[in-house]
Amino acid sequence: MYGEDLDRYLSDRDAKEAILEVGRRMYAKNYVVSNDGNITCKVSPTTLWTTPTGVSKGYMTDEMLIKVDLEGHVLQGTRKPSSELKMHLRVYRENPDLIACVHAHPPVATSFAIAGIALDRPILPEGVVQLGVVPVAPYATPGTQEVPDSIAPYCRTHNGVLLANHGALTWGMSPMQAYMRMESLEYYALVTMYTGNIIGRANELSCEQVDRLVETRTKMGITTGGRPKCRFAAGGQPSPCSQGHACPSGSPCENGEVASVVRSVMAQIQGR
Ligand SMILES: [Zn+2]
Repeated sequence: MYGEDLDRYLSDRDAKEAILEVGRRMYAKNYVVSNDGNITCKVSPTTLWTTPTGVSKGYMTDEMLIKVDLEGHVLQGTRKPSSELKMHLRVYRENPDLIACVHAHPPVATSFAIAGIALDRPILPEGVVQLGVVPVAPYATPGTQEVPDSIAPYCRTHNGVLLANHGALTWGMSPMQAYMRMESLEYYALVTMYTGNIIGRANELSCEQVDRLVETRTKMGITTGGRPKCRFAAGGQPSPCSQGHACPSGSPCENGEVASVVRSVMAQIQGR
């Protein structure tokens, strides 16, 4: 979709600055602890900058970053890339249009990854538009070739994956977009946890509402993310594609009410 347009690549300097900024943000938000996580950003069709192994992503400096080619050979820099670089390289191989990848272990999303539960319920409009469905890639031993193989099927169709018993990986057209998807993913996981296990109830968006959001997303030029499985038609009746049970009568499944319930839950969570 972007062809060979080189303008879409950041300069070396901007790519490195973006990686450092994303590292600071994900460390500050507790998406990584200790030396966990890694970030990459392509600066040409065949070269990219990556974070080194063995350093906290919250305290990186410019000279710590490493430039590599798509096979992972070091072209510039004195440190060693992470063994998880293989996973990023596979994303770029599967989908050459992508520019950046972010890998982290955000605690709620990682809990879903450990439980093997995909984030695929249509409960947040922003989740459907910005992120879509987040599948769980099967467990693979970190650092091995099994990890890239496990994520390969999703690199063209989705915006990120949960890595079973490990963490999460998101990608995009810039380090900041990939990072924002990580933020959306962790928030989606958090709200799914609150509504599922603490409040004990989540009113899902109807199939019509999901259709409208997917349409909006397509108009925004986002063609990845998949379509969350909806269970209810407007009015709370099971949709033809329903795989679950109908809402109890009188429950707020009607158009409009779902959005207001979701908004009020979000406002409570955010302390507004
Ligand atoms: Zn990891």
